Amino acid sequence: MPDPSRAGSASPMNLQSIIPENEKATPLAPPAISARGLKKTYAGSKKMPPKEALKGVDLDIPQGSIFGLLGPNGAGKSTFINILAGLVTKSSGSVSVWGFDIDRNPRQARAAIGVVPQEISMDVFFTPKEALEIQAGLYGVPKSERQTDEILAALGLADKANAYVRQLSGGMKRRLLVAKAMVHRPPILILDEPTAGVDIELRKQLWEHVLKLHEAGVTVVLTTHYLEEAEELCDRIAIIHNGEVVACEPTEKLVASLDNKTLVVTPLEPLAAVPDLAPYTAELKSDGRLFIPYHPSKAQVGDILERLGAASIKVRDLTTVESDLEDVFLELTYRSGR
Ligand code: ADP
Ligand code: MG
Repeated sequence: MPDPSRAGSASPMNLQSIIPENEKATPLAPPAISARGLKKTYAGSKKMPPKEALKGVDLDIPQGSIFGLLGPNGAGKSTFINILAGLVTKSSGSVSVWGFDIDRNPRQARAAIGVVPQEISMDVFFTPKEALEIQAGLYGVPKSERQTDEILAALGLADKANAYVRQLSGGMKRRLLVAKAMVHRPPILILDEPTAGVDIELRKQLWEHVLKLHEAGVTVVLTTHYLEEAEELCDRIAIIHNGEVVACEPTEKLVASLDNKTLVVTPLEPLAAVPDLAPYTAELKSDGRLFIPYHPSKAQVGDILERLGAASIKVRDLTTVESDLEDVFLELTYRSGR
């Protein structure tokens, strides 16, 4: 039996050579992927009306990042990825990949990315080694430049190189898809919902390998509808909702902005001054309402109400205001069943 703890122990030297030296991500370089006004409307049919899946997406994905495209089902994530991969034709707007415009230089743009598609489809009659060789052939990688063994090792599949694909575990099959996406040594690796329906242990394994590729200089883009996954892995997250990017920020900033709500209180009697509700800071609006921002993770509305009571403020009415982002967030957590 192979020792599973040794899976994927490729030497750093092998890993470092997975993408060419001059194609490694450099900070302050132009974006790895850049989209402007990107729109996609799928044509309707007799039964289905046309569907506007992307409504004008502007997005820059920095070189060297692990970028999360986060959104609920149907948000347009796969549409975006498939346009990059040349699998879906955009309706309008522009996209460049590694500096290559997908209309003017489609071949170069496509060569700059390796895509792991959402749907797993694999020919089970080949071995991983054969599968990679065939893929390299499709991409026109000359035999002398192929790195089949290095890539298999990097994905923890060296000892399965000659096994039949149908004998691989689910986790190994996913890793083989990543390996296939890397045969032409693209500087950008894109994974479309790579862990949907994959158990936690396999997720961890997959991420270990993807993170190694990232360390070796590969820019990684993944789509997910798990906020937690994006939060854990990505240094930057864009939230896409109904075909629009509603947020794009460094992970920490985004997560912090999800934790903001405002309690709006209409007092029974008009207030003469802003009450002291420490540690909360209230703002008295000209219409007499009190706006009290708070962090839902740290404060409860009941606690704020107690402080209002202590300040002898009687409440006529109250509501809470959430950011639009909060709505998306609620939908995300709802859909991922947490
Ligand atoms: P996501 O990957 O975020 O779940 P998709 O990009 O797959 O979202 O889909 C975005 C929207 O476009 C959805 O409403 C989906 O039903 C629709 N859609 C996707 N592919 C097609 C297609 N080939 N024809 C018609 N509508 C499509
Ligand atoms: Mg999808």
